[in-house]
Amino acid sequence: MTKIYIAYTGGTIGMKQTAHGWAPAPGYLAEQMAAMSELRHPSMPEYVIDEFDELLDSSNMIPSDWSRIARNIAAHYDAYDGFVVIHGTDTMAYTASALAFLLEGLDKPVVLTGSQIPLCEVRNDGRSNLVTSLLVAATQKIPEVTLCFGDRLVRGCRSVKVSADGFDAFDSPNFPPLGSVGVDIEIDWPLVRPAPAGGLKLDEIGHPIVGALRLFPGITAELARNVLQPPLQGLVLEAYGVGNAPERNAGFIAAIREAVTRGVVIVDCTQCLHGSVDLGDYSTGSVLARAGVISGYDMTVEAALTKLVYLFGRGLSPDDVKLQMQLDLRGELTR
Ligand code: ASP
Repeated sequence: MTKIYIAYTGGTIGMKQTAHGWAPAPGYLAEQMAAMSELRHPSMPEYVIDEFDELLDSSNMIPSDWSRIARNIAAHYDAYDGFVVIHGTDTMAYTASALAFLLEGLDKPVVLTGSQIPLCEVRNDGRSNLVTSLLVAATQKIPEVTLCFGDRLVRGCRSVKVSADGFDAFDSPNFPPLGSVGVDIEIDWPLVRPAPAGGLKLDEIGHPIVGALRLFPGITAELARNVLQPPLQGLVLEAYGVGNAPERNAGFIAAIREAVTRGVVIVDCTQCLHGSVDLGDYSTGSVLARAGVISGYDMTVEAALTKLVYLFGRGLSPDDVKLQMQLDLRGELTR
């Protein structure tokens, strides 16, 4: 029988109402799942639930939690056919992106899911997300980190949370979904990456200092300088349109140039949901390229940020980080 390892990290799906609002409660998700007769159906896989010692609202997640999930998967890798990570929706796209980078050589399915309404509510999306994710992990041999939510299955390192309250809360704006969830679960196999040879290799990462800065009209040089101060190693610059910035703000551009000269890797991503950065298109973009900013192409901010953590976390030099940031490592960017 197919065996699935469930890493339960927290999130709305297993939450209970408390005096301060919804919060995860130890053992509660397992209790709810034990009462779901559909999980005992013969078509369902066998599963074990490994519950985090401290269940988290995903707003509390930090990069060491990504490493912890990756280590749990690696430790159980040979004994299971597939993996489901139950996670809060708020930062699920970051964790999905981070796991894609951390789990190098992955050749088994890892599916992240959660819900907008807890399982304990009569009307909820957790039930179907859970059943579908378990089935995907058990029956679809997708050698990738994916995110299964509502009506679609998307590549983890392309995922973005697009709705705070809708059931189809995640999208993959710059890459087609890997699958659709309707009457049938249909996988678009030509889009799925081939299983890499060599087996799983988990990279331990340190604690690099990276950040993100969203441009807005009126942003000052002083603000940029403050953000770019040492010990910052990498920054995702969320720029306008195809990657443009206020060229006429000489102080701002100087702050960027100075940081690049100090070795800070600045990656330009667009604030737009769809489309790619092209720093050669406008004078307001090429000014950044001349200052040493690199293009993030069509990477999501979530993928760019977690990729910086992954690369700097492995001790790569700024030049190597720059090089790798512009390469497609896990299907996260199109050039
Ligand atoms: N705040 C919750 C979390 O991200 C939201 C959810 O799970 O939907 O953990």
